[in-house]
Amino acid sequence: MDPYKTLGVEKSATEDEIKKAYRKLALKYHPDRAGGKQNEDKFKEISKAYEIVGDKQKRAQYDQFGSAGPGFQGGGQGFGGFDFNNFQNVNFDFGGGFGDIFDTFFGGSGRQAKKRKGPIRGNDIEIVIHLTFEEAVFGTTKETPISHYETCEHCKGMGNEPGSKMETCPTCNGTGQHIRIQRTPLGSIQTAGICETCDGAGQIPEKKCRVCKGEGRQMKEESIKIKIPAGIHDQAAIRLSGKGEAGLKGGPAGDLFAHISVQPSKEFEREGENIRTTLHIHLLQAVLGDEVEVNTIHGPVQLKIPAGTESDTLFKLKGHGVPKVNATTRGDHFVKVIVDVPKNLGKKERELYKELAKEAGLDIKPQNKGIFG
Ligand SMILES: [Zn+2]
Ligand SMILES: [Zn+2]
Repeated sequence: MDPYKTLGVEKSATEDEIKKAYRKLALKYHPDRAGGKQNEDKFKEISKAYEIVGDKQKRAQYDQFGSAGPGFQGGGQGFGGFDFNNFQNVNFDFGGGFGDIFDTFFGGSGRQAKKRKGPIRGNDIEIVIHLTFEEAVFGTTKETPISHYETCEHCKGMGNEPGSKMETCPTCNGTGQHIRIQRTPLGSIQTAGICETCDGAGQIPEKKCRVCKGEGRQMKEESIKIKIPAGIHDQAAIRLSGKGEAGLKGGPAGDLFAHISVQPSKEFEREGENIRTTLHIHLLQAVLGDEVEVNTIHGPVQLKIPAGTESDTLFKLKGHGVPKVNATTRGDHFVKVIVDVPKNLGKKERELYKELAKEAGLDIKPQNKGIFG
């Protein structure tokens, strides 16, 4: 099928010309207006043609490849299930433009009027939990108030006053749908939307629940306890199933997501399960070696610095890092040693260093002033 020929337009036709041509033909062959199988087929064909060249992207694709994508190959593929007897039941979303007509009439999914009958799952709730560095490392329990919908206890979520009967919705006569008739360029089309009186249920309670005013749920403030596992990461999220909003009409509750925000530590830098710190030592400690106390998140540890340690040497304190979440292992603590060169030497110190230089066989020319004068 050549969609341009079908619509009787040139390949160079503007969007407007295509739209006009389509409307004219659609009006002429519209199934509401014209009888006979032949016209139905014709209507399908022009609709399909317009679906391709009436859409910028599909048109460009057609012009380039001679087809508008996999859904359009093999001729009339998407049209098989279409039955004009169902014409009255389709939800004709006119605001969405012409593209929607075809999704509705011919699309495989057959978008029909949404029915809100039956249970509806409650919404999820998202909250943020702020933790100190230590709380994240060692775990804690946080208690936080949340406002959320809970199922109304008085009516058990049904919305009717206990003991009162349900009656047929007078607006929709129990169908749950609200039928409107619209006049469109394609003729008059009936559209079905959700009945607003009964929210699609088809029935309304004779008496609404006096506690929740018929909604079936109530806003409540609840204090919930959230267990934070040791080793939790910044920006992790904890999910508490069923702690979100209550569902409607017996639907399940949503979930609560607690997003974790961890305050950084002034002393420790965390990298996953590992901890990193920097240790400044004197030149003489580096030269002679030493044993120093290093603070870890688990308390002080003695660290042996071998004689002749270079600046930037990394020491690993195995297992002194952050616990892995839900595991018994821990990360490591890495200490980066920075060797500080002493400045502003006293008179005696200076003499001793000069003597050391001589001892080391260095023929040097000591400068009187330090780099800062
Ligand atoms: Zn209630
Ligand atoms: Zn109704």
